[in-house]
Amino acid sequence: MRRITIFGATGSIGQNTLDLIGRDPDAYKVVALTGGQNIAQLAGDAIRFGAEVAVTADPDRLDDLRAALSGSNVEAAAGPGALLDAASRPADWVMSSIVGSAGLAPGLRALEQGATLALANKESMVCAGALMLSTAQAHGGSILPVDSEHSAVFQALIGEDLSAVERVIITASGGAFRDWPIEDLAKATPEQAAQHPNWDMGQRITIDSASMFNKALELIETKEFFQIDPARIEAVVHPESMIHALVGFRDGALMAHVGPPDMRHAIGFALHYPERKDLPVDRLDLVSLGQLTFRRADEERWPALRLAREVMAAGGLSGAVFNAAKERALDGFIAKRIGFQQIAQVVEEVLSRISAQPGHIDAAITLDNVMQADHLARTRADEIMKKLEG
Ligand code: NAD
Ligand code: MG
Repeated sequence: MRRITIFGATGSIGQNTLDLIGRDPDAYKVVALTGGQNIAQLAGDAIRFGAEVAVTADPDRLDDLRAALSGSNVEAAAGPGALLDAASRPADWVMSSIVGSAGLAPGLRALEQGATLALANKESMVCAGALMLSTAQAHGGSILPVDSEHSAVFQALIGEDLSAVERVIITASGGAFRDWPIEDLAKATPEQAAQHPNWDMGQRITIDSASMFNKALELIETKEFFQIDPARIEAVVHPESMIHALVGFRDGALMAHVGPPDMRHAIGFALHYPERKDLPVDRLDLVSLGQLTFRRADEERWPALRLAREVMAAGGLSGAVFNAAKERALDGFIAKRIGFQQIAQVVEEVLSRISAQPGHIDAAITLDNVMQADHLARTRADEIMKKLEG
C-alpha cells in the first residue's frame, strides 16, 4: 500500500485527489490530511479514509477538530508546527495543494523525508524554485508537477532532450474578463472575477486567472521547474482550455497536450507516474469540438505578464516578493479595498521598492530568506494599499 499525505485536502485539488484515491482504497494508506477552516470536511474525510492524523492550519480550531473526530482513531492537530510534523511522517506520495506561500514549508519538509511531492502549489516554485529542486535532489525525493500546464510540458518532454527544446507555450483561458472592454475592468468585482469560464477551482486561483497573475506565476514556474531560458517561454490565450501546453523542438515539431479541463488528469498522472492508468476523465470528441482558437496574450490588458518577465529576468528572491505582494493585493481586492486593476499596480510598486533596496532580491534562496522577503512584501503591499485607499 502506498502511504499518502495531502496538504490542503479540503480544497479543490485536495478533493479531486481524494476522489481518485477513493476509487481504489485498498491501494493506499492515508497518513495525514490537512485543511483550514472547513473542519467538518476535514474530519469527515479523515475518518472516511482512516487517516492517522488530521491537521487544521488554524491553531484556534483544535477543539473543534477534536470534537469532530471524537469516537474515531484519527489524531487531531493544529497550527503551522503541526503541519510540519505531519510532513515529517513517512509517506511515499505527498500532495502539496495548500494555496499560497504557506504551502512552501510543508512541501520542503516532505522532500527532506525523500517523498515524491506532487506539486499543485505553484507558489513553491515561484518563491523558492532552486531550493525545492536542491532539497529534492539532496534527499532522494522527487517533484512532479500538478499544475495542468506543467504536467502537459512534463509529459511532452518524456524521452526528449531538453537541449532540443526551442520553445514552451503555455495556454491561458483568459479568465472571466477576457472579452470585457479594457475600460470596464476598473469596476470589475471579486464576485465577477471568481467566475471561471472553464475550470472549477478555488476562489483565489480563479481570480488570479482573470487578472492573469495565475499565468504570470506559471511562466515563472515553467522557468524554475524545467530550467528553461525565459526567452523560450510564452503564454497564449486559448479560450477553450483544451490544449494545456505545447513544446516546440529544434526540428519544428510542436507537441501539444490536449484534453478536457479536469484536474484529475494531472493529479492522476502524478499519482501513477511513471505508469499510466485508467482515469475517470472525459475523452475528447474532436469532431463535436469542431475548432480550437487562440489569441495574443495582451500585456496591456494583463500587466501581470509583463511583471512575470521582469521577475524571471531579476531572479533571486523577486519571485517570493512578487508572489507575496500579489497575495496581499488579492486579499485587498477580495475585501474590496482596492480595484481589480490596482492588484497589478500594488505588485509593481512593491517590486520596484524592494528591488531598489540593496541586498533584498539577491540574498540566498533559503527558507528563512524567502519567508523574510514574503513578510516584507506583504508589509509594503499593505502600506501601498493604505495610500491608495486614503
Ligand atoms: P482551495 O482554496 O480550493 O484550497 C486550498 C487549501 O489550502 C484548503 O485545504 C485550505 O484549507 C488550505 N489552506 C488555505 N490557506 C492555508 C494556510 N495559510 N495554511 C495551511 N493551509 C491553508 O485552492 P485550490 O484551488 O485547491 O488550489 C490549491 C493550490 O493548487 C494553489 O497553489 C493553486 O494555485 C494550485 N492549483 C490549483 C488548481 C485547481 O484546479 N484548483 C489548478 C492548478 C494549480
Ligand atoms: Mg495551471
